[in-house]
Amino acid sequence: MNKAFFLDRDGVINVEVNYLHTPEETVLNEGTAEAIRKINEAGYLAIVVSNQAGIAYGMYGMDDVKKVENKIRELLAPAKIDAFYYCPHHAEKGVIPEYTIDCSCRKPKPGMLLQSAADFDVDLSQSFMIGDRLSDIHAGDAAGVKASVMVLTGHGHKELAKAQQEGQIVKDDILRAVEYLLNL
Ligand SMILES: [Mg+2]
Ligand SMILES: [Zn+2]
Repeated sequence: MNKAFFLDRDGVINVEVNYLHTPEETVLNEGTAEAIRKINEAGYLAIVVSNQAGIAYGMYGMDDVKKVENKIRELLAPAKIDAFYYCPHHAEKGVIPEYTIDCSCRKPKPGMLLQSAADFDVDLSQSFMIGDRLSDIHAGDAAGVKASVMVLTGHGHKELAKAQQEGQIVKDDILRAVEYLLNL
């Protein structure tokens, strides 16, 4: 079986921009390319799991999300993300009917992690989650990963007090988180 790092996208890999949906606004956080390279070299899959409720809100479409994805791939090369999974849903605030559902993939639900684990034959008990929100960390826990780390980039600072109350592991950024998890 394979091992994986599940990675939130906005605020972890790229600089947080509210409802990012253009390649022009897509900028990597410092250390991201090195972090992904370390994941690649350590023999783990790098799998992005990203809530994109902006699609349900009608703010942008999956074609925009794919353009951002291509830009991220370009900026990261030669480091490589193995797969991107998105949740385009929102149960209450959606305006696009097909996406206005109570899905099983919107984090903190573990659906994207479980689906990608099935697709890539991933052993969740040997895998990790990195996110900038507690909902990311809770999705990792619900999927049964070995450990999850909250980073202080993106929305991390806003959620720090609550993360500390919960006893979550917190690191400065994706690179520090990857280095920590690879040494567990
Ligand atoms: Mg995020
Ligand atoms: Zn969903």
